[in-house]
Amino acid sequence: MSGGNRNSNSDKTKLIHLGRDSEASQGFVNPPLYRGSTVLFPTVRSMSEGGYGYWYGRKGSPTYDAFERAMNELEGAAETILTPSGLSAITTTLLGLLKAGDHILMTDSAYQPTRSFCDTTLKALNIETTYYDPRIGSGIAEMIRDNTAVIFMESPGSQSFEIQDIPAIVGAAEATRRADERQITTVIDNTWATPLRLKPLSLGVDVSIHSGTKYFIGHADALIGTISATATSGAAIRKTAWSLGICAGPDDVQLALRGLRTLSVRLDAHEKAALELATWLEARDEVVAVLHPALPSHPDHDLFKRDFTGGTGLFSVILKPVDEAAVARFVDGLNLFAMGWSWGGYESLVIPFDPRSYRSATKWPYEGPALRFHVGHEDIDELKADLAAGFERL
Ligand SMILES: *Cc1c(COP(=O)(O)O)cnc(C)c1O
Repeated sequence: MSGGNRNSNSDKTKLIHLGRDSEASQGFVNPPLYRGSTVLFPTVRSMSEGGYGYWYGRKGSPTYDAFERAMNELEGAAETILTPSGLSAITTTLLGLLKAGDHILMTDSAYQPTRSFCDTTLKALNIETTYYDPRIGSGIAEMIRDNTAVIFMESPGSQSFEIQDIPAIVGAAEATRRADERQITTVIDNTWATPLRLKPLSLGVDVSIHSGTKYFIGHADALIGTISATATSGAAIRKTAWSLGICAGPDDVQLALRGLRTLSVRLDAHEKAALELATWLEARDEVVAVLHPALPSHPDHDLFKRDFTGGTGLFSVILKPVDEAAVARFVDGLNLFAMGWSWGGYESLVIPFDPRSYRSATKWPYEGPALRFHVGHEDIDELKADLAAGFERL
């Protein structure tokens, strides 16, 4: 067999074979790229019976199938839905699982545009959001209302890197389900960890979402989102995705599938370099805290070790209080760390941020300025030297 799903229990090996079949591709290693809108049917009868298994470009293609199958396998999901961006994966999921009058529990550490969607679009649809402390654990049970339909997690938190007690939160949702047969769906934004570092469905979560824009694509040259879910949740979300006309571009799907081939080695490199830099930063006098859950100093390190199989390349640093001009001197003068949104590509990035501007359920405990680092594949000693020169300017 050439390609396809060979017998393997290792993600590292699976990534090499998932979603391809060289025999079906005239021997070529990779599956062909299907671009298309119209799908032809030879007869009226074949049209009513579903033709070759495809209906219309928006509703899937062999290119879609290949990446969806790979994601199902990696996430242990029944169904994966592809969307044009990570944010659209989040919004399509929420629209698919919520209706007017429902209530959603949203972690206070969520990606900021996820919050905006709750505060604007969901609010206008008469769906109420309550933000909760990401470290609430089983205490979430007390926040569940009669109309709570979704509990949304993101672990570690965007920018702030709290690790959530996923089994405790899933347990509270399941206890409510059993008590009165209501359906509370648990959803997680799993972008930071990728399915190589955390498998939320194996912990009982119903839906695992990725901004594939980050590590799957890995080269900052495309956007894509994935929603991997149990059969029941997946069916509801797919229905909504189709009703909204949501579909990913086939070229981007192909790039994401290609990205999976090297995901394991890229992540290992991101993780190793990030931890080395994080440890180096922790020892600097100018630094108050380094927020990377794989560091033993991280307050949730034990939870992290229990549920995750490793770390990745994104973390934050809190500096001792200094004025804005000093932070600008530090960041503006960096030579190798570029400043820009997003992350997961080959290049190291940095952004200054201030969670006080959007958090509502928890108090940000730090006074000083915060910087988020994505560590790319540059020479680690040169990255350190770049930051050391930044500290001189600071
Ligand atoms: C970037 C990001 C998103 C949004 O993804 P896009 O592909 O940029 O739309 C969602 N969640 C997290 C955690 C992210 O970092």
